[in-house]
Amino acid sequence: MNQATANQQKKINNIVIVGGGTAGWMTAATLAKVLGKNYCDIRLIESDQIGTVSVGEATIPQISLFNKILGIDENDFVKKTQATFKLGIEFVDWTKKGGGYMHPFGDHGTAMDAIQFHHYWLKMHQQGKSPDLEQYSLAAVAARQGKFMRPQNMGNSPLSQINYAFHFDATLYADYLRDFAVERGVIRSEGKVIDVSLRDSDGFIDSLLLESGERVAGDLFIDCTGFKALLIEGAMKTGFIDWSDVLPCDTAVAMPCKAKETDVLYPFTQAKAQKSGWIWRIPLQHRVGNGYVYPSKFVSDEEAVNILTAQMEGEPIGKPNFLRWTTGVRKKSWNKNCVAIGLSAGFVEPLESTGLHLIQSSIAKLMSLFPHQGFDQTDIDTYNAQTKTDLEYIRDFIVLHYKATDRDDSEFWRYCQNMKVSDRLQAKMDLYQKNGRIFRQDNELFNETSWLAVMHGQGLNPQGYHPLVDILSEEEIARRLEHIYSVIQKSVDTMPMQKDFIAKYCKA
Ligand SMILES: Cc1cc2nc3c(=O)[nH]c(=O)nc-3n(C[C@H](O)[C@H](O)[C@H](O)COP(=O)(O)OP(=O)(O)OC[C@H]3O[C@@H](n4cnc5c(N)ncnc54)[C@H](O)[C@@H]3O)c2cc1C
Repeated sequence: MNQATANQQKKINNIVIVGGGTAGWMTAATLAKVLGKNYCDIRLIESDQIGTVSVGEATIPQISLFNKILGIDENDFVKKTQATFKLGIEFVDWTKKGGGYMHPFGDHGTAMDAIQFHHYWLKMHQQGKSPDLEQYSLAAVAARQGKFMRPQNMGNSPLSQINYAFHFDATLYADYLRDFAVERGVIRSEGKVIDVSLRDSDGFIDSLLLESGERVAGDLFIDCTGFKALLIEGAMKTGFIDWSDVLPCDTAVAMPCKAKETDVLYPFTQAKAQKSGWIWRIPLQHRVGNGYVYPSKFVSDEEAVNILTAQMEGEPIGKPNFLRWTTGVRKKSWNKNCVAIGLSAGFVEPLESTGLHLIQSSIAKLMSLFPHQGFDQTDIDTYNAQTKTDLEYIRDFIVLHYKATDRDDSEFWRYCQNMKVSDRLQAKMDLYQKNGRIFRQDNELFNETSWLAVMHGQGLNPQGYHPLVDILSEEEIARRLEHIYSVIQKSVDTMPMQKDFIAKYCKA
C-alpha cells in the first residue's frame, strides 16, 4: 500500500460530538467553519432531557479572536445574545470588608525606558505621592463611569488600545452557535447516549448507543457532556486530578433577576466576596445574571439561596439552578480517539471568567494537532501537557485571590489564608513582594498586567521597586505619571456611555 492510500485509510471521516452546551456548539461551529462541508461528517448529539449548565455568561477579550475565526458580525452577535460589553472585573470585599479593586482588560500606564510602568508608580505610591493604580488604566476608569466604545485608530492614544469582552445569555449564545454550525453542515441529533462501546483491540471508542436504539459510529469522538464526562471518564476511566484543597468552593446557585431601571449600564462583571465564597453579578441587556459560588462544607443550599436573593437588585427570574463540581483537571483530556472539551475536561471556578476561554483554547489546540493522518501519540501527549499547564496557571491565578487576603472573619477565609499553594504561585507572590517584579511564564493566559492588578488589589505590598527607576529624578517621574494620568482621564471624557453605545449599534 502506498503512503497516500495508507493516509487516506487513516483519515477522519466521522466526527461525533456528544453534548450541545456551549462547549459542544463552540466546537461544532469551529470544525464546520475550518474543515468546510466536504472534509468529513460532523454530527452533534444532545439531549433536551439532560439540559445544559446554562451558565457561563462572562468572557475575556480572547473571545474576539474566536468570533473573528468564525467571521461573526459582532453587532449581530451582541443583539442576538442580549450581550453587553465588559472592560474588566470588579472585586469587592476580597482583601477586607469594604475594600474593592478592578482587574481591568489592558495595560496600566505605559512602559518607560524599557522598565514596566508599575515600578515608577510603585516608587511614588510608596511615598504617598500618586493616586491608585486603577487611575492609570483606561479600562478601569471607563468601566467605573459606565463608559464604552471600541478601539479607535488614534496612534498612541490609549483609545486605540481598548480591550474588551462580552457578557451574554449563555442559552442564546449556544443557540446562536448552533444555527451557525447547522447552516454549515453539522448534523444535529436529539437523543440520549446510554452506552459507549470500546474496541477490544485497542480501547478506542467504537460507537455510541442512543436511547432510541440507534448506534452511532465515528472516528473521532468529542466529549462535551459537561461534568458528566460520559465518554472520557464514564467509558474510558481516564482519571482526574483533584484541586479542591486550594479551591474549596464546590457548589454554585445561579439565579438571574430583572435589572433595576437605571441610566448607567456598567461594563464590568462584579465578584463580591462573602463570609464563605463569592457572588457574581453579570449585567445583560434584558436582565442581570447572579450566582453564589460557595463551599458546601460551610454553607447549606438553603442558606446559599437566602444569601443570594438578599443581595439581588431585582425580582428573581426562574428557579435556583444548583451546580456542583470537583475542582481539577482530567489526567488526559485527549485519550485515544476521544477529546474532552469544556467541563468534561476539567474546571476551576468562574472567578476570572475562564471557562469559555478554555474551550476556545482546547479547540485551537485540537485544530493545530488535528489527526489528519490517524492518531499520533506525540500529538496527543503535546495536547495533554499543554492543556494541563494552561489550567494549572489559571488555577494559580484564581487561588491568588483567596490566598492573599487579610480576611479572617470566618473559618473559610482562615483556611484560605493558611492553605499551602503551589510552589510556582508562592514564588510569584514572593518575587512581587520584594521588588514588584512580575514575569509571565510559558505563555500563560494572564499577563503581567493581570497579575499586577490582582496582587496589588489583594493587598500585596512590595518592599521596593526596580532599581533602574532611580535613574530618573523624582520630579521627572512625577511629571510623566501626571501626564499619563491626565491623558487617561481626558480620553475617558470623550467616550460614550455604554448604554448609548449599545442603543446606537447593537440593541437587542
Ligand atoms: C457556576 C458556573 C459559572 C460559570 N460561569 C462562567 C463564566 O462566567 N464565564 C465562563 O467563561 N465560563 C463560566 N463557566 C463555565 C461554562 O459554563 C462552561 O465552560 C460552559 O458552559 C461549557 O459547558 P459544557 O458545554 O461543557 O457543559 P454543559 O452545558 O453541561 O453541556 C453538556 C451537554 O451534554 C449533554 N449530555 C450530557 N449527557 C448526555 C447524554 N448521556 N446523552 C446526550 N447528551 C448528553 C447535555 O444535554 C448538554 O447538551 C461557569 C461554570 C459554572 C459551573
